[in-house]
Amino acid sequence: MFLKRYKDIIIAKFQSTRENNREVNRINNLLRTNQFAKEIVGNSRRLCHVYDNSEWHSIVLETLDLDLIYQNVDKTFKNRGDNDDEYSDYLVKELLRYFKRDFFKWCNKPECKRCGTDEFQNLTGIQRANNEESKFDCGSVEVYRCSHCNQEWRYPRYNDPIKLLETRTGRCGEWCNLFTLILKSFGLKARYVSNKEDHVWCEYYSPHLKRWVHVDSCEQSFDQPYIYSKNWNKSMSYCIAYDKDGVTDVSKRYILQNQLPRNLIDENDLQLVCSFLTRELRKNLDRDDIYKLWCRDEQERLEWTPQATHKTETITPADNEHKGRISGSAEWKAQRREDGS
Ligand SMILES: [Zn+2]
Repeated sequence: MFLKRYKDIIIAKFQSTRENNREVNRINNLLRTNQFAKEIVGNSRRLCHVYDNSEWHSIVLETLDLDLIYQNVDKTFKNRGDNDDEYSDYLVKELLRYFKRDFFKWCNKPECKRCGTDEFQNLTGIQRANNEESKFDCGSVEVYRCSHCNQEWRYPRYNDPIKLLETRTGRCGEWCNLFTLILKSFGLKARYVSNKEDHVWCEYYSPHLKRWVHVDSCEQSFDQPYIYSKNWNKSMSYCIAYDKDGVTDVSKRYILQNQLPRNLIDENDLQLVCSFLTRELRKNLDRDDIYKLWCRDEQERLEWTPQATHKTETITPADNEHKGRISGSAEWKAQRREDGS
C-alpha cells in the first residue's frame, strides 16, 4: 500500500517536471550561452540511440566467433558460479578478452604496407575525409609518410562501428565505439562514457551486482573504475554517461584523485541538463519502467554518498597491479599523461 502510493508520487513528479516551461527556457538559454551544455546535448543526440540498431546487432553477431565466445564462458561459468544472473558478468569478461586478444588491434601509427612496419611512418597532417571515406561517418584522416619508401598512407578515423568490424583497428574512440555496440548486440544493458580529458569507455549494468560496472575494452578491464585516476595518475574533470534511458554525470565513480577544476558549467545547470535529457529519453516509457529506472538512478546516487562507502565494497587497486595504461605506445601514453608517472 505504502509502496504503491510512493510509486504514484514518483511518477507524478516525473510527469509534472516534464511540462515545466520555466525549465525548458533555462535549458534553451544554457544551449545559447554554455559550450559544455551544447556539447552534452550534441553527444546525446548520437550516443543515446546509435547503438540500439537491431540490424547492426545481427551483423555483429554474424561477424564474431560466437562458438568460441560461448565455449569460453561456459568453461569459466560452470566451474565458478551457479547464479544465472552472474552469467552475463562472465560473458562480458569473455567479450573483453576476445575483443582485445583475438579481434581488435591497437594502432599507434598505421603500418606502411610496403615496408611491413610502422617504424618509419611520420604524421604529416590531418585532412578531411574523401568521398569514399565519408561514407563511413569519418571524422578526420591522419596522413602519414613512410621515410623509408616515401609512400603516403591515409588513416581515416571512422565513427561507423560496422566499418570498424572490417578495419578492426583504432584507438580508444574506435575501441569504445565498437565495444558498446557489441555489448548491446548481446542484449546487455550498456552505456558510453565520455571523459572530458580525451578518453572514452563503457559501463555495463550487471543484473548480478545490481549496479553499473566500469568496462574498458582497450585495457580489458572489468569493474576497475579507479584505474584512470589512480593507476594512470590521470587528471580529470567530467565523465558523462549516455544510453537510451538517460544522460548521467558519473564523474564520482572515476575521479578519486587528481580532480581538475569543474568550471565549464555551474553544477546545478549540469544536473539540470542531465535530468532534462533523461526525462526526454524516458517520455514514452510506461509507469512501471519509469519507476524502475528511477529506483536504479537513486541506487546509483547512493553509491556516491560518503556514508555509503563503508557499506558497499570499496574497490581499490591491488598492490601487485601495474601502473599506467596498457594500450598505446610509451611515447603516446607519456604525452597524454596516462603512463602512471
Ligand atoms: Zn615504407
